[in-house]
Amino acid sequence: MNVDIVIVGAGPSGLCLARALSGQGLTITIIEQQSFEGISNPAFDGREIALTQHSAKAMQELGLWQRIEPHAISQLRDAKILDGQSQFEMLIPHQLSKFRELGWLISNHLIRKAAFESVQQAIEQSGDITLITDQKVVKVKADEISAHVVLSNGTTIHARLVVAADNRFSTTRRMMGISANMHDFGRNMLVCCMTHENPHDHIAWEWFDYGQTLALLPMNPDPLNGKYRSSVVITVPSEEADELTQLNPEAFSKDAERRFVGRLGKMELISTIHSYPLVSVYPNRLVGKRFATVGDAAVGMHPVTAHGFNFGLLGVQTLTKEILAAHQARQDIGNKTLLERYERTHRIKTRPLFFLTRLITEIYTKESPPAKILRKTLLHIGERLTPFKRSIAASLTGR
Ligand SMILES: Cc1cc2nc3c(=O)[nH]c(=O)nc-3n(C[C@H](O)[C@H](O)[C@H](O)COP(=O)(O)OP(=O)(O)OC[C@H]3O[C@@H](n4cnc5c(N)ncnc54)[C@H](O)[C@@H]3O)c2cc1C
Repeated sequence: MNVDIVIVGAGPSGLCLARALSGQGLTITIIEQQSFEGISNPAFDGREIALTQHSAKAMQELGLWQRIEPHAISQLRDAKILDGQSQFEMLIPHQLSKFRELGWLISNHLIRKAAFESVQQAIEQSGDITLITDQKVVKVKADEISAHVVLSNGTTIHARLVVAADNRFSTTRRMMGISANMHDFGRNMLVCCMTHENPHDHIAWEWFDYGQTLALLPMNPDPLNGKYRSSVVITVPSEEADELTQLNPEAFSKDAERRFVGRLGKMELISTIHSYPLVSVYPNRLVGKRFATVGDAAVGMHPVTAHGFNFGLLGVQTLTKEILAAHQARQDIGNKTLLERYERTHRIKTRPLFFLTRLITEIYTKESPPAKILRKTLLHIGERLTPFKRSIAASLTGR
C-alpha cells in the first residue's frame, strides 16, 4: 500500500492533522490501535480542556467547534492564582486581553468525538483519508525515497511522510531513534466533575497549596439540576492519589470540601474520577528522516499551564502549512528542509512555556520556610506587575 502521509494515532491531534490536510490532493492513512467504536464514541476521561482563543478559532476552521453543543462549551472568563492557606489572590482578568473571556473549556472526550466526526465528513467529501483501527504500528523505518510503516497484522504501508501523533511516550518516535527529555513529578493529577454550593463566576483557580495543588475549572451549570458545576483537579503524591480514588463518592466529596476549606460550600462528586501520572516530555528532535511528531508526541506538557492540546493545534497548523506549501510547489513533502523548518518554528513556540511550566511547578511545590516566603513574595509582586499579568493573559488567550 502506497500513500502520501501516514499519521500514527487518532487522538485529537492526529485527527485534526488529517482534517487539515484533507481535500488538497494528498492521500492520508491514519493508524489507530483502539477500536472504531472506541474512537467514534470516546468515553469521558475526566479532562476538561482549557482552550485559548487561538485554539477556538482553529477548531472552528477545522469544523470541530460547530459539532459541540453550546452548553458543553464553558466560558473561562478570568483566572486566579492562590498560594498556601493565604486569602491573597493574583487575579488575571479578561480585561487584560482584548476578549470577553480568556478562553473556553470543553471536555476532552467531546473534542475527540468532534474531531472524529469532522474526519468522517472529510472522508465522505474527499475520499482521501483511510482510517485503519485495531492496529498498532510495530515498526517504522525510512530511506531517501520512502518511509515504511509495519502494522501489527503484518501489513506494510509505504509513505512519503510519517507523522507520529501517538502520545507523549510515542513508540513511533522511539522506533525512529529519537530520545526525549522526561521529567517525572512523582505526583498524580485527579480529575472529576463536581457540583458546589458557591458560584465560581467563571473564574478558573490554580491553587498552589501546601501538600497539594488544586485547580477549579468553571463549567456551565449541571443540566440536570442547574447547580454550579466545575471540573476539580487535585494534584497529590501518587500514593495519596491511589487512596483518594478508592473513596466512595460521599467520602470523596467530603474530602474535596475539606481540601477547598469550604470556599465552595457543599461539594458533590457527579462523575467518575480519573488519575493521570504527571510526566512531562520534550523530545530532543521533533523530526527525523521522512518523519515528524505532533501533539503530545512533540511536546508532552505538564497540564498546570493548560497548553498540551493548544500546542497540539499549533503544531498541526505549522506542519500543515509546510506540507501544503511543498505539495503546491510540487516538492517532496518529506524533504529535510521542510521538516527542519517545522521543528524550528514549533520549538520557538513551545519550548519557553514548557520550561517555564517546569520552573513554576518546582518553585510552587517546595515547602521549606524560605521557599514559602519566596512563593508568597513572587505572587504579591506578580499581582502588582500589570505587564506580567498581561503576558499571562496573552498566554491563556493564545495571542
Ligand atoms: C489531566 C489533564 C488535563 C489536561 N488539561 C489540558 C488543558 O486544560 N488544555 C490543554 O490544551 N491540554 C490539556 N491537557 C493535554 C491534552 O489532553 C493532550 O495534549 C491531548 O489530549 C493530546 O492529544 P494527542 O492526540 O496528541 O494524544 P492522545 O490523545 O494521547 O492520542 C494518541 C492516540 O494514539 C494512539 N496510539 C498510541 N500508540 C499507538 C501505536 N503504536 N499505534 C497506533 N496508535 C497508537 C492512542 O490509542 C491514542 O488514540 C491535559 C492533559 C491531562 C492529562
